[in-house]
Amino acid sequence: MLSPEILAKYQPVIGLEVHVQLLTATKAFCGCVNKYGGEPNTHVCPVCLGLPGALPVLNRKAVELAVLASKAIGCEIRETSIFARKNYFYPDLPKGYQISQFDKPIAEHGHINVPDAQGNPKRIGITRLHMEEDAGKSLHDGYADSVSRTYIDLNRCGTPLVEIVSEPDIRTPDEAFEYLTRLKEILLYTGVSDCNMEEGSLRCDANVSVMLKTDTRFGTKAEVKNVNSFRYIRAALEYEIERQIEVLESGGRVVQESRLWNNAEGRTYSMRSKEQAHDYRYFPEPDLPALVVGAEWQAEILKALPELPEARRARMIAEYDITQQDAMTLTATREFADKFEAAARKAKSPRRVVSLITSELTGRLKAADLELAQSPVSLAGIVQAADLAESGELSSKMLKQLLDACFAEGKDFAEIYERDKPQQISDAGAIEKMIDEVIAANPKQVEQYRGGKKTVAAFFVGQVMRLSKGQANPALLNELVTKKLDA
Ligand SMILES: [Zn+2]
Repeated sequence: MLSPEILAKYQPVIGLEVHVQLLTATKAFCGCVNKYGGEPNTHVCPVCLGLPGALPVLNRKAVELAVLASKAIGCEIRETSIFARKNYFYPDLPKGYQISQFDKPIAEHGHINVPDAQGNPKRIGITRLHMEEDAGKSLHDGYADSVSRTYIDLNRCGTPLVEIVSEPDIRTPDEAFEYLTRLKEILLYTGVSDCNMEEGSLRCDANVSVMLKTDTRFGTKAEVKNVNSFRYIRAALEYEIERQIEVLESGGRVVQESRLWNNAEGRTYSMRSKEQAHDYRYFPEPDLPALVVGAEWQAEILKALPELPEARRARMIAEYDITQQDAMTLTATREFADKFEAAARKAKSPRRVVSLITSELTGRLKAADLELAQSPVSLAGIVQAADLAESGELSSKMLKQLLDACFAEGKDFAEIYERDKPQQISDAGAIEKMIDEVIAANPKQVEQYRGGKKTVAAFFVGQVMRLSKGQANPALLNELVTKKLDA
């Protein structure tokens, strides 16, 4: 364990490489289905098996999704990009090379904003986004003779990917976690990938080095490979930063290498030395022409670009007068944000709909261990409840009781309200008595009303509704209040 004083002498520098599988129906360069799983080696053809004479044909949809992803992270599109062969030998790569992009990727110079330790926005640069194809899989276990054999499944071969490479702008494991969270959110909003980390649709490698804060040159970096959750990446970076500082403090030097995270032990292990840098012998792919995405095609593709999470939160904060935290809750997924907005626009007070969701609904969901999508109370039910609260027909106590009943019985609000709604007072005499009471207690508002400010009537309606515990017949109440005030 290193002391805080020693840790404070060093500055970590982190860059992230994220591989994202695109949600196309078919693979990048052939017509095979692009689908996770399946019987091994059934989603294959001569092209993705790399058989002699087979030729790749680029999937138009993959290009469109790559352009959408690029724009969503603020990248510039290169009008003419070039596919290249990245040559290396591996059993799950039958062609002996991966079709990728090298010096002319489809997009460059983007960025994502993340909150820094103080909560202020910090811009993390994105060097490039390039297109490539995935390799197959080596299956090291799951078979009776797995002890002595490794099996190969080529179903994943040729799956379209984009690789998104960040600038070394990230300074803490928390910033890395935020960057990944925001990136995933943007990709999900844009619909280019399902980002399912368990199935490998989103994979991350992290480059990390440390340097003395007094130094101006970055230290030697190590690469932490294939960590399958954002929390583990944060833990791996925390471990790796301390490990490297310890090496330097004890007079050693950090070796440039790839390391694997072992979650059970909470540490990284050396995987292979990168001292002799890989020579992938990149050269332009001779079987594919240059990829040209002209202005017209770009404009066509960008019609599918939705409002992005950060912009949407900013707009919703202004439009519904809500907090940043509320906005985070409401925009957790694009689907929920869409449903919320459609509902809120029909409500008397969108602000009240938000507060019902953030204060009453999320608390009950958490207690019942339910996701928003599993809520017994629909958004339409929340809007109904909010409108009843807004008009004063439901006291906040009554509202809570009704929602409790909804959760206890697994029923929507409309059904419970119809059954348990408070008894209405439709006795004009009883309502008039309450109106007299409120008028007597608020001479200033009466004066305003009689001075011509007719909107003050709503104040009296609200007060009487409260006094009646939400039980006064609203139509009758409105009529009587106007009558009394005009008298
Ligand atoms: Zn194929």
